[in-house]
Amino acid sequence: MDGQIKELAEGWGAVIGAVLLGIVGVFYKHVRRWANKWLGANDVAPFTQGTLRANSQVDFAIRESLIRLQERTKADRAYVVALHNGGYDASGFKFTKMSCRYEVVKLGASREMQNSIDMSLSEYPEIAEKLTGSDDVTTVCVASLSKGAVLKQFLMTQGVTCILGHRIFLRAKGMDVLYGFIGISFCDKQCDGEGTCAVDEHLAQIQEATELITIQLKKRK
Ligand SMILES: [Zn+2]
Repeated sequence: MDGQIKELAEGWGAVIGAVLLGIVGVFYKHVRRWANKWLGANDVAPFTQGTLRANSQVDFAIRESLIRLQERTKADRAYVVALHNGGYDASGFKFTKMSCRYEVVKLGASREMQNSIDMSLSEYPEIAEKLTGSDDVTTVCVASLSKGAVLKQFLMTQGVTCILGHRIFLRAKGMDVLYGFIGISFCDKQCDGEGTCAVDEHLAQIQEATELITIQLKKRK
């Protein structure tokens, strides 16, 4: 009799133990989620077929806009670069990085921007100046950049002489946030870097592409 009771008690003990563990597990998950919300930690988007499909439609549409922009302007490369948090240094100072998200190229041109990921913005103060300036649209001519500029070396290795760029703003958490920029690169423009650049003639096309791509970026889930 004693043995039976002991067995029964052990059986129930295991069941109660498992239930308690389950409750603690579920509770822990919720507490962690609430804590993340309170602390403002990044919400991780759930990886579902629905969001993946919706975002792939966005990606197709953005690529279409870039292809059209590249074809109309005969640029060597058309791309979208996004700014993002690069992490924190040892003193807790936050730094910004840039990554190319989309790139299309002219037939025969090499895809160079696709390798431009996690680039530290502090290496490219010329880009930071332009992104924080008063104009949405800007030109970068290799000939006008100072000799020591990393941007000059970066563009020369790509064979680029002139760029036309347009900022992208998105609305996030109730304010306009600088998302990044669209760029079109030319390898064949001869520009002395003084006065106006020949790529200015593509102003209307890059403005139109920026509008279309901004609409698509807002659709992401
Ligand atoms: Zn130029």
